[in-house]
Amino acid sequence: MNTAATPPTPPGTGRRVSARIAAISESATLSVDARAKALRAAGRPVIGFGAGEPDFPTPGYITEAAAEACRDPRYHRYTPAGGLPELRAAIAGKTRRDSGYEVDASQVLVTNGGKQAIHEAFAALLDPGDEVIVPAPYWTTYPESIRLAGGVPVPVVADETSGYRVSVEQLEAARTENTRMLVFVSPSNPTGAVHSRAEVEAIGRWAAGHGLWVMADEIYEHLVYGDAEFTSMPVVVPELRDRCVVVNGVAKTYAMTGWRVGWVVGPRDVIRAAANLQSHATSNVSNVAQVAALAAVSGDLEAVAAMREAFDRRRRTIVRMLNEIDGVECPEPEGAFYAYPSVKALLGRELRGKRPKTSAELAELILDEAEVAVVPGEAFGTPGYLRLSYALGDEDLAEGVSRLQSLLGEARA
Ligand code: PMP
Repeated sequence: MNTAATPPTPPGTGRRVSARIAAISESATLSVDARAKALRAAGRPVIGFGAGEPDFPTPGYITEAAAEACRDPRYHRYTPAGGLPELRAAIAGKTRRDSGYEVDASQVLVTNGGKQAIHEAFAALLDPGDEVIVPAPYWTTYPESIRLAGGVPVPVVADETSGYRVSVEQLEAARTENTRMLVFVSPSNPTGAVHSRAEVEAIGRWAAGHGLWVMADEIYEHLVYGDAEFTSMPVVVPELRDRCVVVNGVAKTYAMTGWRVGWVVGPRDVIRAAANLQSHATSNVSNVAQVAALAAVSGDLEAVAAMREAFDRRRRTIVRMLNEIDGVECPEPEGAFYAYPSVKALLGRELRGKRPKTSAELAELILDEAEVAVVPGEAFGTPGYLRLSYALGDEDLAEGVSRLQSLLGEARA
């Protein structure tokens, strides 16, 4: 009701975007990548460590399956919103094969990438005020997706001294009566940290013991190096199975980021609820992309083994070269394709006439002065760090880190 003291808002000057959506910021990783690509399109020799995507093309047997699907009228029509039945069955089979988690097709929802799987799982599980513990550094999408679903993200920070691995004690300290869920991602984006089987088991037991739900993001399951091993939480903590959703997709394993096929595996009632949501939001994922994903998950893991070898080589190069820079400290990542060095010792130093005080300012200066794109730690809830994806060609990688070495080598107190 308007009173004399508050005149009515003149038409056309009121709220335009909802408060809920206005509170979301653009994905920082996508925006760094977009800026790097725009500079490159304008002729600048920018080297991008921003995007989390393999530089390899999608394997030929996958693109061939997609090409055939394009010509098959069956795939020119709507198909079940929750995914092609044969793909859901194949994902259940692949899950059994790769992580040992026994599920059937009715527990699988095929989504438009892992991102939609995450979004729909939070939407299906959270009510307003529900707290979700999110180990930090976290992948930039989780908190936004949690907030959109009405939940409250509760970051728990682990730094380089623990190899960016949270402990049960830290998680317990963050737990309240409103805690509903834990996000668990190993191998991790942005740090590349991989939790040992014992750690996964301890964290899973803790969550199960307190009746919490867990979202286990397993999208980097096949990208582990050296002695590190991937562990699926609901496999080692079976009592969690009724309260666990597992997110995965073809993007990272088969160099298929642009195809947009992911999935969530979980208890049938949650999968049904998330599928109902999807039936109104997007309906089925593109059939052609689903057939490509079917070829991917039904095939062997040879392609990812070859990519893993290249990533491992680049990982060792980037970590060695970053640690040669005075003021940069980079623990060895054991999985995914990211290095997450601390640059705290460089902040406040003089560099090309400037004194960057935050990692965001430093990342900007690096792009301007060295034409190298990196994502600042601010995007992952931990200022003072940079994320570099090493999923780029060996030559570009060496050239890009050399430029960083020369530029950052000039920093003076
Ligand atoms: N989870 C994690 C941890 C990721 O890093 C990504 C991609 N950056 C995704 C999920 C989503 O991948 P997509 O939507 O491309 O399948």
